[in-house]
Amino acid sequence: MMSGIRLENITKQFEGSTAVNHLSLEIADGEFLVLVGPSGCGKSTLLRLLAGLEEVSDGRIMLDGNDISGLPPRERNFSMIFQNYALFPHMTVEQNITFGMRMRNEPKDQHKARVDRVAGLLQLEPLLKRKPGKLSGGQRQRVAMARAIVRDPKLFLMDEPLSNLDARLRTEVRDGIMQLHQQLKTSTVYVTHDQMEAMTMADRIAVLDKGHLQQIGAPEALYAHPANLFVAGFIGTPSMNLFLLPCAAGVLTVENQPVRLPQTDHAQALTEVYLGIRPEHLSDRPVDGESLQLQATLTYRELLGAEYLCHADTALGKIRYVRKNQLRENVGEIPQPGDRITLHFSLHDLHLFSGQNQQNLH
Ligand code: ATP
Repeated sequence: MMSGIRLENITKQFEGSTAVNHLSLEIADGEFLVLVGPSGCGKSTLLRLLAGLEEVSDGRIMLDGNDISGLPPRERNFSMIFQNYALFPHMTVEQNITFGMRMRNEPKDQHKARVDRVAGLLQLEPLLKRKPGKLSGGQRQRVAMARAIVRDPKLFLMDEPLSNLDARLRTEVRDGIMQLHQQLKTSTVYVTHDQMEAMTMADRIAVLDKGHLQQIGAPEALYAHPANLFVAGFIGTPSMNLFLLPCAAGVLTVENQPVRLPQTDHAQALTEVYLGIRPEHLSDRPVDGESLQLQATLTYRELLGAEYLCHADTALGKIRYVRKNQLRENVGEIPQPGDRITLHFSLHDLHLFSGQNQQNLH
């Protein structure tokens, strides 16, 4: 029998727009899958389709080998956590947590054991008798999570649960979600527009743009091998430097240095190629191995703490690179605005995308 959840060629149309377009993916048992993409890419719609709050226009949603596309939300046994987690203000934390069980007339003697378990997991024991008005934002979010997990759902659906929290709380709640996942191993689909959040939390990331699945894979894989120009620009901070450059007969020339394109018919026929290089892979000092060089003029630098983000002009266009802030070394070594510099990067760290269909050439 098939375990886990499978989306088979899902399409969702609203009048005039296609929010999700022929999308297929699988969520393995116990997996933490993050859906990420810019505003309007279809993430929330996909989550609502999974929850049963929207109906698919085409395609199937399979759970453990059964088609659940037509099931109403309550029969799916999925639990959804939204960014606006409405708690009942007149009920205690405990009553909020048990609300769903009471609505379903589940036997009372089961309540206590289950409340104790989730309260323990989320460190809510001292708060059970309090009302939501007497809780901090992070505590309230934990209660909302307790309410979602107390049913022991097959799948958690989380729609930007951190987005209304301040920076410090966001880290706290994020760590809480990760710990909870470690302990419960409940399959989770988590939506965010924040690629850093996706990188730090996900087992796998699914990148969406305009309703299409662009790439799905482990964070490391997406960072090292972005499938196309969109993923290359979206995953990684600061974002990848990208230049559209002319090429001929399968050779790209970068400041008089030839770069051979892969020996495929597609690559050999191209007249334009996107060259991509991540800011952290550029150096103003020589690098090991086969490398390329770019002449540049430093325009300005931003101190980020342990490193500078340096901005420079090159013949290809504006470029950014990351430079360690070596406080103990001679400060004169760090280029100043206006300095002429040579930027080096290893051929190994170069990304090439088709100028025609924007797919990775490798
Ligand atoms: P955001 O990060 O801004 O929430 P999103 O990636 O979650 O965006 P969706 O909310 O899924 O995007 O919307 C995807 C597309 O579908 C958008 O173009 C949106 O306008 C459209 N859409 C979503 N819901 C509806 C609806 N109920 N009726 C009509 N169009 C809709």
